[in-house]
Amino acid sequence: MRTYTEPPRAIPVIDEVDVIVAGGGPSGLPAAVAAARQGASVCLIERYGFLGGMATAGLVAPILGHIRPKSAASVNNGLLKEIVERMHTLGGAPAWQTTCREGGIRFEAEAFKRVADMLVQEAGVRLLLHSWIADAIVEDGVIRGVIIENKSGRQAVLGRCVVDATGDADVAFRAGAFTRQGRSFDGRVQSMGIFFHLNGVAQVSKSQEAQATEQIRQRMVAGEFRFFDPNVANRQTMHREVFSPNMARWSGDPTDVRDLTQAELDIRQETWKLIEFLRAEAPGFEGCFPHPLATQVGARESRRILGDYVLTAQDVLERRKFADGVARGVWWVELHCPLGRSYPVHVCTIDCVAGEGCPYWKAEHAGEMLASSPPHDEEDDWFEIPYRSLMPQGVENLLVAGRCISASHQATAGIRVMGICAAIGQAAGTAAAISVLTDRQPRQIDVTALRQVLVQDGLLEDYFAH
Ligand SMILES: Cc1cc2nc3c(=O)[nH]c(=O)nc-3n(C[C@H](O)[C@H](O)[C@H](O)COP(=O)(O)OP(=O)(O)OC[C@H]3O[C@@H](n4cnc5c(N)ncnc54)[C@H](O)[C@@H]3O)c2cc1C
Repeated sequence: MRTYTEPPRAIPVIDEVDVIVAGGGPSGLPAAVAAARQGASVCLIERYGFLGGMATAGLVAPILGHIRPKSAASVNNGLLKEIVERMHTLGGAPAWQTTCREGGIRFEAEAFKRVADMLVQEAGVRLLLHSWIADAIVEDGVIRGVIIENKSGRQAVLGRCVVDATGDADVAFRAGAFTRQGRSFDGRVQSMGIFFHLNGVAQVSKSQEAQATEQIRQRMVAGEFRFFDPNVANRQTMHREVFSPNMARWSGDPTDVRDLTQAELDIRQETWKLIEFLRAEAPGFEGCFPHPLATQVGARESRRILGDYVLTAQDVLERRKFADGVARGVWWVELHCPLGRSYPVHVCTIDCVAGEGCPYWKAEHAGEMLASSPPHDEEDDWFEIPYRSLMPQGVENLLVAGRCISASHQATAGIRVMGICAAIGQAAGTAAAISVLTDRQPRQIDVTALRQVLVQDGLLEDYFAH
């Protein structure tokens, strides 16, 4: 490949803070607010003109992974609870207890955006929207800040500690930390996908819903649609007269811009094919229209750091606890087929219906697969994420939050949902603040003290009772 060498140039340092949070999604938002509430000066940098990440740009809902199935009790009563209560006040989400009873948080993306704005402003976070983090500033293995690009040009923001909440470990990767991607034998990650809102369906009856779903299912069996789920009548927004289908599936590398480009084109084409089919052939759907489609195709998995501890599938499935546990989750290894296969293939397990028909099923693949994926925990229990999984090897003063923490390919499928990412983010932001306020590197902070703060802040309630 031809290359071009950029000439060196001086760029303005537009801010200097204690903590930089890179990315304002379900993990970055709580990270920034938590760090600021601890007393650190915080700069939150986000590429879009709004916060929320996949919860807003991706229209992903409901927020999952924090509710114990039997008791309907949440294992994350921290900033996530506050976000939901404030969305509820705006009419954008049910009451917290209702979401717990429902097993997930349905909400309006616009309410999430507004609540995020309020939380960061009230906490005194210095917010930079429309700013793409292009590089990391590293000296002698210690991160000192990030380089951003925006309408004002190329700029630097310096910080004593950085939390990478970009979902793709962009900062860690550019800082030279060790990262991994996908399955060990072929690097493939879980398939990408997209949500959209289907409007003009308020008058659709239950029987028409069922009929449309069956019509779609038959087309999927015939290979005419490539969706993994025929359920067009998904209702995960606050206002249930709107459907929020989550059906598309695309196999590729979310860190490769050519794959991202093709994914957007293919998924939009498939979505419009569905709309035209519904209008023409599904009774009740004659006036349906997509509004909106998610701003971007969503990645379920991409780069993940190699940290001081690599969370495993067994940790997730056996509900393991850790002496340095800082976040909790209630989920399973929900590994969307990395080949992008669709109906009736859903998740990648050794008992997948594709079986030996899958070219990756045999040999080393089988060794990595789980016998089956328990859909939900029988014992009402949770697993924990150790603080060590937030600390990348290779760079100091850097913490990672969200779906790109240090976990195996399979365990990533157990921690990637937003209720868990929010808990990891709050823990990372709190740790970053403690690090700068006690003048210790993140690796050297008092983890017992960190956990005590997280208990007070609702993240590890009853921790010491277990
Ligand atoms: C199709 C699909 C369906 C899903 N379904 C569910 C579900 O039903 N329930 C559930 O709980 N979870 C679901 N998930 C998973 C969940 O949405 C994500 O794993 C979660 O949002 C990850 O949170 P995060 O904060 O780590 O990253 P993200 O949500 O990706 O947030 C990262 C933020 O960083 C910003 N950013 C990234 N790179 C840069 C950069 N270089 N410079 C500046 N800003 C940057 C982004 O704009 C974004 O705001 C789904 C995901 C997909 C793709």
